[in-house]
Parts: sequence; structure tokens; C-alpha cells
Amino acid sequence: MAGPDSPQLDVLAVGAHPDDAEIACGGTLAKLVRQGYRVGILDLTDGEPTPGCPRPEVRLEEAQQAAKTLGIEDRVTMSLPNRRLFDSFEARVALAKEIRKYRPKVVIGFGDKTPMASPDHWQAMQITDAAVFYSRLTKWDHHFDGLPPHQVYVQLYFRLAFEPIALTGFASHFTADISDTLQAKLASIRCYESQFPPEKAYVFDRIRGAALFFGAACGFEAGEVFCSARPLRTTNVMRFLFAL
Ligand SMILES: [Zn+2]
Repeated sequence: MAGPDSPQLDVLAVGAHPDDAEIACGGTLAKLVRQGYRVGILDLTDGEPTPGCPRPEVRLEEAQQAAKTLGIEDRVTMSLPNRRLFDSFEARVALAKEIRKYRPKVVIGFGDKTPMASPDHWQAMQITDAAVFYSRLTKWDHHFDGLPPHQVYVQLYFRLAFEPIALTGFASHFTADISDTLQAKLASIRCYESQFPPEKAYVFDRIRGAALFFGAACGFEAGEVFCSARPLRTTNVMRFLFAL
């Protein structure tokens, strides 16, 4: 948990379980770190129990290793319940407290349902949407241990690497170049030995394949796709179009 003097983050990625953020946007997070931005990962639950993990401490250790592999110093694993994560007032406030502590400029999180995978992901999206809003509300500090309001400037949605190609309902998709951090992304996911034992090695091919596919579509070696909760905007069309 963050303390009262927690460092301000530029970007906070929110997942339901340890490994969600790595699979969805590990390459982009690693790149942001290399570019000098302060990046954090927050898991709403510890992700346990799962079939292959002997005890929750093992998954937590894997999560810390994965964060280190991406160069991320700040990882918070909250204690909301895995498998029965629900959008509730308490869950919204719990996440909003962390956002008020870390004061990120950008929050990235789930943007859609993940059919036939954990329903926690969809709940995480709703909790994150609400917490981003709650974070900026005034005259409500008593719900947040007196932490002052914080305005998140940009909210982005990610998709798990092997989920459907486009998130529906949002106008602004864009692809981030992860050509030089794809290996770091894959290495961070490999830290989760309890989740991806040798018989699940195909997952890495799928994640790599998705990154190559999305990169190729826009001329990068590898990419990760995001969409913005609001339309993207620019005051300089040429710089926007040719930004690399
Ligand atoms: Zn998950």
C-alpha cells in the first residue's frame, strides 16, 4: 500500500489479477519506464486461488519479479477477492484511495468483457471507471481517509493480448510501438511460472503473435493497442500524425 508520501506516478495500469497488466500492456509499460516516466501497476486482487499456484505468496513473489523485469518500482496488490470481484461502492473507494495516493496522470485498465475468461475483468473495468471519477470529487474526503481529490487527465483502455481485435464503443484506437520491449514483456509474463507451466507455453506464441500482428498493421515490428476513453485530440496535426 502506498504511504502518505507516495511518489506521484505518470501512469498507473490497473488489472484484476497479477499478470493482467503484463499481458495487456507490458511492452508499453516497459517502454514508458525506459523513456523516464514513473509507472505503477495495481492489481485489484492477488489472483489466488488458481489451479497451478501452491499458495498466494508464490503469486505475489512472481508479480514482484515481473514488475522488476519491466523496470517498475511501484506495484500494489490490493486485497479485493479473486473470482468474486464485484463493482461495489467499497471497491470503488478502495481503488480511488490508491489513485488519490499515487496521483497518476494516466490510468490504463480493462476496456471490455473477456468472454470465457474471468468475469473479474469486466468488474475491474467498472470499478476503474468509477474510481477515476471518484478520485476527483470534492467535499467527499471523509470517504478517502482525507486524501485530497486528484484529477486523472487521461483514461485509456487495454485489451488482453489474445482478446478480440477491437474494443467496441470507443472511437479512438491507437497502437503503441513495443518493438524494443516485446522481449521484456514476454520475460515479465514468464515470471508467472505458476500460471504458465510448460504445457501452457503456447500462450507466449499467442502473445508474441498478437504483438507482431498489431505492429505490422501500422509499420512497427511489434505493437500494443489501446483506446482512449475520450476522442484523441491535437493542436498540431502534423506532429500528431508523424509522432514516433
Ligand atoms: Zn486476469
